[in-house]
Amino acid sequence: MTVAYLGLGANLGDARQTLKDAVVCLAQQHVLTILAKSSLYRTAPVDARGGDFFNCVVKLETAMPVRHLLALCHKIEHHFGRERPFRNAPRTLDLDILLYGEHCIDEPDLIVPHPRLAERAFALAPLVEIDATLTIPQRGRAQTLLDAVATQRIERIAPPCQCPTTPSIQTGPSAPIREKSCS
Ligand code: ADP
Ligand code: MG
Repeated sequence: MTVAYLGLGANLGDARQTLKDAVVCLAQQHVLTILAKSSLYRTAPVDARGGDFFNCVVKLETAMPVRHLLALCHKIEHHFGRERPFRNAPRTLDLDILLYGEHCIDEPDLIVPHPRLAERAFALAPLVEIDATLTIPQRGRAQTLLDAVATQRIERIAPPCQCPTTPSIQTGPSAPIREKSCS
């Protein structure tokens, strides 16, 4: 099993609702388990066209190879109407692999950790929210990197949903209650 972090972003259509729906969509994939979800953030576009973005980060666990995870990201982006008319165009949904375990990948179509992660408050702030001690391979502590991009406009707009779900089958009085992420 590998713990991975996905960055979600959108600035076209009902972006806020799309991010919530995309997290639900991810949670329904039997090939992964969502471990945590950050708050939603509203952020200024960085090297991108269009209006403000909504962003969040999801932490998940999966046995999928990283390329399968990338393919799944593309499939979900497509499902939510992602089009690429030109580079950095406004997008209904962007799903990026920020981290895949401790792996460092540098291939033409896949770079992990995500190549612009270390310079982007919209990725670093939700990562640090999920894990304040997180270290980015080859880059250092996420909190330190976040401090260095403090001038980028970012506003936390909605806390993560904390609602617990009761397991359908209780195996005993001491059975643990599993927390499940929801939008
Ligand atoms: P953006 O860089 O704005 O996210 P796209 O979402 O259109 O642009 O992605 C362009 C390409 O980036 C994808 O086709 C994908 O192959 C490649 N890519 C490289 N590394 C990653 C990564 N870590 N996560 C997602 N896509 C990646
Ligand atoms: Mg992308």
